[in-house]
Amino acid sequence: MKVFLKCDKCGRSLSGYIVKKKQIWYYKCKTKGCCVNKSADKLHSTFTELLKSFTLNDKYIPLLKEQMYKTISGLTKETTENINI
Ligand SMILES: [Zn+2]
Repeated sequence: MKVFLKCDKCGRSLSGYIVKKKQIWYYKCKTKGCCVNKSADKLHSTFTELLKSFTLNDKYIPLLKEQMYKTISGLTKETTENINI
């Protein structure tokens, strides 16, 4: 999840680490002196709640699947043609 996480103080990416004695994961800011340190469990829960706002109405799922197939087919067309050659 590191790709999505940015420090709320300085905006730099966060990196994950584990406290081995407790076996608990955390994320911390890479900026020297910034000191932002967050529980991975809490951030993951917050992220899960955020993702729920991006749900798709079931009636659009077939259309989305069809469009994804066409898009992926278009993107891989040249590769498929090269394989056939
Ligand atoms: Zn920071």
